[in-house]
Amino acid sequence: NLWNAPDAEKSIGTSTIGSSEACMLGGLAFKRRWQQARRAAGKDTSSPNIVMSSAVQVCWEKFCNYFDVEPRYVPISEEHKTLDGHDLANYVDENTIGVVAIMGVTYTGMYEPVAEIAAALDEIQKDTGLDIPIHVDGASGAMIAPFLQPDLVWDFRLERVHSISTSGHKYGLVYPGLGWVVWREARWLPEDLVFKVSYLGGEMPTFALNFSRPGAQVLLQYYMFLRLGFEGYRAVQQESQDVAEYLAQGIARLDAFELWNDGSDIPVFAWRLKEGHTKNWTLYDLQDRLRMKGWLVPAYPMPADLEQITVQRIVVRNGLSM
Ligand SMILES: *Cc1c(COP(=O)(O)O)cnc(C)c1O
Repeated sequence: NLWNAPDAEKSIGTSTIGSSEACMLGGLAFKRRWQQARRAAGKDTSSPNIVMSSAVQVCWEKFCNYFDVEPRYVPISEEHKTLDGHDLANYVDENTIGVVAIMGVTYTGMYEPVAEIAAALDEIQKDTGLDIPIHVDGASGAMIAPFLQPDLVWDFRLERVHSISTSGHKYGLVYPGLGWVVWREARWLPEDLVFKVSYLGGEMPTFALNFSRPGAQVLLQYYMFLRLGFEGYRAVQQESQDVAEYLAQGIARLDAFELWNDGSDIPVFAWRLKEGHTKNWTLYDLQDRLRMKGWLVPAYPMPADLEQITVQRIVVRNGLSM
């Protein structure tokens, strides 16, 4: 319901250790669904690919590496700061198992416009017949958008979004390690990926990369949902966002810096050093100085094609007050 499944009773999902495992399960469901469709049509299944922004989190590189899927990166640029559907037709083909959209890009905290990506895929389907699903990697944003941007259409309101994952231990407000992945409809999770285990008594379906896991985080997530409720989560996330926007505005007023984004998506934002401001220090020096005082405010290069740009990022979470 939080992610607007048309019929929550018909959706299906599982807990994971974090978003990494959740994303890999989402990717595996894509791959299996694609393999089954290709086999049924008597077509080759040797070279699946997945399309995503060059700014994806490392778990997607892992997925591709561990599960033999070709990664196709759409480079971000100053004009296209996120994957936005631009040029997508040049990346997808009959071997594309799916497209990843990120809600809360790790580098900057920006949302990718999932509805625009879905619209671009609609066009592609009209032209080519290819029906390519979307997985939303909502590691942070899937626990922010329902509360702070309820009118933003990024979730299961879009039919093309087959699955959504999130980290319970980011804005889900639980300690590490907890993630969730949910499929819009049970049919998008191929049944032959689910194992039915009987030796603990009863019949226990399981879809996970590991088997035993601690249950404390799952209980804490339930507790937090019940304890805070929708309104409680909204208030906590709003507080984080207020702090993030306040910090972003303050940093924007300092002569040295230029914001990349302003914390109005998830409570995360990044900035860069203004060109020509100084040759005496860099954001890496600033990171170092802040660290001496106990603040972890990392500086790092942007991904491929923008790697000449260094940004510095603040992640505001519950507990960082005004
Ligand atoms: C943090 C993050 C991940 C990985 O999540 P873990 O819970 O650390 O495994 C994946 N995708 C995005 C966009 C992230 O921000």
